[in-house]
Formats: sequence, structure tokens, C-alpha cells
Amino acid sequence: MVIRNVRNFDHMDTIYYEAHKNLYLNLTNRCSADCVFCIRNFADGVYGYNLRLSKEPTTEEVIEALKGLDLSKYREIVFTGLGEPTLRFDTVLAITRWLKSQNIRVRLDTNGQAALINPRRDVISELKSAGIDSISVSLNAESEEKYNKLCRPVHKNAYGAVLDFIRGAKQAGINTRVTVVEVSEIDIEECRKLAKELDVDFHVRALSKAASKDLKTARDPDI
Ligand code: SF4
Repeated sequence: MVIRNVRNFDHMDTIYYEAHKNLYLNLTNRCSADCVFCIRNFADGVYGYNLRLSKEPTTEEVIEALKGLDLSKYREIVFTGLGEPTLRFDTVLAITRWLKSQNIRVRLDTNGQAALINPRRDVISELKSAGIDSISVSLNAESEEKYNKLCRPVHKNAYGAVLDFIRGAKQAGINTRVTVVEVSEIDIEECRKLAKELDVDFHVRALSKAASKDLKTARDPDI
């Protein structure tokens, strides 16, 4: 059961929410990609939570909000959001350091483009030093051509950078997995093979109901 647990500022933003026995952090609605299946194109959030932010929360606001919770009851705290967390890289690092000082498991859900988003940073080393326990990377394509078509990244050579990020995270000893969304354009088995070559875990994510309905209608306007 998903329990509504929303931290409201005066503007009523949801900066964290519970699901799957985890606590998810919503730091930004911005992203360096524009995936055709992105929930941002179809809904305001997930699990009944409106994740549209009127302003991005500061590091201090997030930590202050987390201090009021019993964090030990969650399996892990997950940077996710309705956007790409590594656009707030310093905030991710600072909150991770604070959570690790409380002995809490921390996961980053990311599009894997952190090195392109933060070109002057050694993103893997910094995540490792901050203490991140695991990273889940949205791979979503078995080839660069398909990735560009489906994920429409802002940066050039994004697919190669995503693969490098996955390799780097694995080499750094961070628990790493890749995910794909279950849409017909993606060759799930080829992606599974690629994950095996990269020696990382593999997870298929169901497409959100809202995206599923709208994408189906877009492909077949007679529906
Ligand atoms: S990477 Fe994630 S947040 Fe960014 S556009 Fe794709 S699905 Fe949306």
C-alpha cells in the first residue's frame, strides 16, 4: 500500500513521498532528456502525488524535512523525482552525505548523463565518496540511434556517456543496475544482453498507465 506522506512548504510542493517501502526525493522537474514515454509528458506525478515543483527545494530544506521523519523504516532513500537528480549534483551529494551519517541506505535513479551535465566534475568518484550505495540508470535503448530517437537527449554523444557512466559506477564498486521501460520500440532482450556485458543488474519497468494510454492513442489515432 502506498501511504501518502507529503512534506508541504507554503507552496505545497511534494519533495518526498513513500512507495515500495522506500522514500523518494523529488529535487527537480528539469531533465537533460525528453523521453517520449516520460511521465512528465502525461501526468503531474506518480502514485497520486503531484510532483510538480513551484521551486526546487534547497539542500537545507530537504535535510530539515527529513529530520522530521523516522528514516529507519525505509529500505532506502531514493533520489528520483519528476526530473533528473544530477542536475542538482551538489544537493544530491550533500543530502547523501547527511543520510550516510545517519546510516541510511541511499540510491540514485538517474538517466546516466551526470558527466555531461557536470562536465568539470569527477561524478563517479564524488558519488562514491559521498557514500551512495546504489545507482539505477535508465538505459532504455540497445543502440545510440534508438536512444536518440526515444530519449531525445540535449547533449551530443549521450548514449556513449551513459554507457561510460554505468561502467564507471560498476568499477567504483557501487551497486549498479540498468533499467528499460516496457515499450514496443525497445528491444528488451538486446538491452538485457547489454546489461550482461556490462556486468550489471537488469530491470524492466512497466510504462505508467497515463503514458501507456496516451502513447497507444498517438500510435493509433483511431483508438
Ligand atoms: S530521463 Fe527520466 S525524467 Fe528525463 S525525460 Fe527521460 S524519463 Fe523523463
